Formats: sequence, structure tokens, C-alpha cells
Amino acid sequence: MKTLLLSADEIGKAAEIIKRGGLVGMPTETVYGLAADALNGKAVASIFRAKGRPMDNPLIVHISDISQIKPLVKEFPEKARILAEKFWPGPLTMILPRSELIPEEVSAGLDTVAIRFPGNEIARKLISMSSPLAAPSANLSGSPSPTNARHVMDDMDGRIDAVIDGGECAIGLESTVITLAEEPPRILRPGGITAGQLRDAIGEIVIDPAVTHPLGKDAKAASPGMKYKHYSPRAELILLKGSSQAYIDYVNSSDEEGVTALCYEEDMDKLKKPVIAVGPADDLETQAHNLFSALREADKTDARIIYAHCPEKHGIGLAVYNRIIRAAAFRIIEV
Ligand code: AMP
Ligand code: MG
Repeated sequence: MKTLLLSADEIGKAAEIIKRGGLVGMPTETVYGLAADALNGKAVASIFRAKGRPMDNPLIVHISDISQIKPLVKEFPEKARILAEKFWPGPLTMILPRSELIPEEVSAGLDTVAIRFPGNEIARKLISMSSPLAAPSANLSGSPSPTNARHVMDDMDGRIDAVIDGGECAIGLESTVITLAEEPPRILRPGGITAGQLRDAIGEIVIDPAVTHPLGKDAKAASPGMKYKHYSPRAELILLKGSSQAYIDYVNSSDEEGVTALCYEEDMDKLKKPVIAVGPADDLETQAHNLFSALREADKTDARIIYAHCPEKHGIGLAVYNRIIRAAAFRIIEV
């Protein structure tokens, strides 16, 4: 299959592909998504094949207008309404009891569905010209999420119909996922909207333990995606926990081959190994924005071991921690 690279003014072509049951890589403000018509079970099944995604890992349905949600869910509780008003369009995914309209392939057998109203204009236009779109991140299953069209092409060229080039994603990490199908609501995946913002809006919420800890071998994942290896570069990623100076000393004294430092901008000159900067030490948002792209960049070199900082868990740092700890398969060294 030849994968077309479309520009932002060719959304009409992309909408035609979706209506025919095809697959389109689309920009969103979080990461690039791999979109298909959410109401076409066959099209949705081909997303799983293109990504190599396990069939038991459900997909998020993207809408472009709040009126589209009603036929997709059984209930739209008061707390969901408040969150929608406050954070949509934006990087928040809500899990709600699903209606009969949602194909099995989208929900992977669960009786709930994940819904998001993205802020990105191109994504919204594509949805309004076609239909609600089921879309996971547009990477091969297990590898870092794509934050520009080139990343999507690197993984998906020849496997999907088209990619719309909408430039760099504004946020660079996936949406916050919260389930409202239980009380109190529970964060299953941290993201651009923080736990503090959600609490301010609807009061008590809990954070699923799988956000920060590995799942036990036989534990059942509330969010199936959390049990899989995820976001990983080919090189071995190891997190170093300690001060900036301790990080620098540890990396510089390593005699292993192929070490690359995923470091803070201000430390680049102090490191004696190849470096890739993720942003200033005190700027978690920039680090979030650059994380996946830095992991992909490292894989383009002959890096065999990547040492990164273990991030703080506050604010959007919790989302960075959640991704990087999985990318590192929970390998942390105290320095
Ligand atoms: P992705 O689309 O790969 O960025 O990931 C979507 C995340 O949402 C995955 O971790 C899924 O397991 C999770 N998810 C999607 N739908 C549901 C659902 N109905 N219940 C629980 N988790 C879900
Ligand atoms: Mg993903």
C-alpha cells in the first residue's frame, strides 16, 4: 500500500479515505492518532493490524461536537458534563458506559467507551467531514508515540492509507484518561490535564496505582493499555534518581559502550557522552513536549544505553513519569 502524505488543506481527501473504511494518521494536540471510522468495526479492526496492537486494548473515540456523544453512551453523568464544559475541546478522555452503537472492536469487549473531544483544528475538521473517529497513537505498538508526521511515516509507511501533516503536536504526551463509570472517578492515565485541575472541577478523584507502579503478574488492568510494554526505544533506557550533579557524575563515569544522556539543557556541556536535551530542568511542560521525540532521536543513533532523569511526580510531571517509567521497563538507579 502506498501511504499518501497529505497537507493540512487536503483534509477532504482524508475524509473520503475514512468514509471508505481506510486508515489516516492525523495530528492532535497530544500525539498523532491513527484514525478510522469508529462506527465501522472492520475499519477499526484494521487499526489493530496496522499497529500490531493487542486486540484486548480498547481505543479512544474522538468527536468534534458535544452533540455527537449522546448516541455513543448509555449515560452522561453530571460530573462528565462539568468536565466536558471545562476541559473540552482538550487533552481529556472520559470513560463512560457505552451504547450498542459502539462496535466490539472499539471497546475490546468492555461495557464502557473512552471519548475525547480534541482541540486540534485539523482533527476536528476531519471528524466533522467524516464521522467520530477511533484513534490510538499512530506508532507501531510498543514504540514511542509520534509527535510529528515524519514519526508516523517512520512507523507506518506502507501500512496505512495516508498521513495528514499538521506540524508538531502542541503537548506531545497522550490525554489524561479518567473513568466516570465508577465512584469516585479514577485517573487511569495521567496527561495534559492534571489531577489537581480535575479535583478542582469535580471534587474527589483517585489515581489508579498502575499509573506509577508495575502491575502484578496476574493483576487485572483497569485500563488494558497499562499492562503492555510501552513507549520504548530500541536502546535500553535507564532512569537515574538523584541530583543533577549526581546524574552528571554517574553518566560521565560510565565505561559502558554506546551511552547517550537524555539530559537537561543546562547540563549539556558538562556531560562527556553524546547528549539529547529534553528541555530546561525546571520546565516540565517542555520536557513532556520533547520526551517521545528525544527517544526516537536516540534510536536514530547507535545508542545502546540511554540514561534519563527520573522526573518529579507533580503536575504534568506525573504524566512524564508514567510514560518514561514504562519506556524504561521500571529500571531506576538511585544515584
Ligand atoms: P492509546 O489510544 O494507545 O493512546 O491509549 C488509550 C488508553 O485508554 C489505553 O491505555 C486503553 O487501555 C485506555 N482505554 C481505552 N478505552 C478504555 C475503556 N473503555 N476502559 C478503560 N481503558 C480504556
Ligand atoms: Mg499509544
